[in-house]
Amino acid sequence: MNLIDGKLVASEIRKEIAEKIADAKTRYGKSFRLTVIIAGNDPASEIYVRNKAKACEEVGIESETVRLPKDVAQTEISRIIKEKVSDPRVDGILIQLPLPEHLDADKLLALIPAEKDVDGFSDGNVAKLTRGDSDALLSCTPHGIIKLLDYYGIPLAGKRAVVIGRSNIVGKPMAFLLLGRDCTVTICHSKTKDLKEITKTADVIVCAVGKKHILTADMVKDGAVVVDAGINRVDGKIYGDADFENVSKVASYITPVPGGVGPMTITMLLYNTYTAGIRKLKYE
Ligand code: NAP
Repeated sequence: MNLIDGKLVASEIRKEIAEKIADAKTRYGKSFRLTVIIAGNDPASEIYVRNKAKACEEVGIESETVRLPKDVAQTEISRIIKEKVSDPRVDGILIQLPLPEHLDADKLLALIPAEKDVDGFSDGNVAKLTRGDSDALLSCTPHGIIKLLDYYGIPLAGKRAVVIGRSNIVGKPMAFLLLGRDCTVTICHSKTKDLKEITKTADVIVCAVGKKHILTADMVKDGAVVVDAGINRVDGKIYGDADFENVSKVASYITPVPGGVGPMTITMLLYNTYTAGIRKLKYE
C-alpha cells in the first residue's frame, strides 16, 4: 500500500502559488484578494474561515472576511455580494456555507459571476465543468483529488471509477472530472442497491459520504486506489469514510484521514484565487 500524502502535495502546490504570486507582484504590481462572506457564528464555519485567512496570508493573498449577523436580511447580504462583485480589487468571492436557514443560498451564489467564483459552485463554472471547458474554476475538493492522483502518477484513462456520494460540491463535480480524464464513472448514493457489488468493480474509489467506515475492505478490489474525502468526528476523533486500517491492506494507494484530501481543499481555493486574479490582469 502506498500512502497518498495530502500534506506534502498541498505544501508543494502552496509553495508554487506563493512564488507565482510574488512574481506577479514584482512584474505587474498585481495584488490578489479573496473576500469571504460569513453570516452567523457557526463554530465549524468560523474555523474554516480562520484557516482560509491564514492560508491566504501564507501565500501572499490578501483576505477580507465580511462578518454578518445571523439574522442578516437576504437584501442586505445580496447588496454586499454585488458590491464585492463590482469591486475591481476583489479577485475571488466565497460565501461560507451553510448559511442561516432563512437565506436563499442558491440565489446568493448566483450573484457571483463565474470569473470571481473561486468555490466553483456557480452555474457558469458548473456548466463549463460538464462541458470539459479548461477555463472553469473547479470545485476545490474534487480538483484537489485530481491533483493528488496526478502527483502520484496514477493512471486514470480507461479505468473504472466509482464515486460514492452525489453532492454538488464533491460527488458530482468529482464524477465529471474523472469522466474528463477518460474514466468510466459510476456514481453511488444513499438509494444505491448492492453498493459492494459496484465498488468491487472499481479501479478507483472516491468516498464522499460523511459516514464513518462505510467503505470496508471486503468492498474493495485488490490493488484499487481509494480516495477518502469523508470527515467524521466521533468522540473527539476524526475518521474517514473508509476503514483505513483494513482497506489499506487491499488498496494500492490510499489517502489517510486526516492528512489526505483535507489539506488539498484550501490549497485549491488559493489556486483558484490566483487563477482568477491572473486572468483578470490579462483581460484588463
Ligand atoms: P453531503 O452533501 O451530505 O452528501 C453525502 C452524499 O453521500 C449524498 O449524495 C448521499 O446520498 C450519500 N450517501 C449517504 N449515505 C449513503 C450510503 N449509505 N451509501 C451511499 N451513499 C450515501 O456531503 P458532502 O458535502 O458531499 O461531503 C461528504 C463528506 O466529505 C463529508 O464527510 C464532508 O465532511 C466531507 N468533505 C470534506 C471536504 C474536505 O475538504 N476534505 C470538503 C467537503 C466535504 P443522497 O444524495 O442519496 O442523500
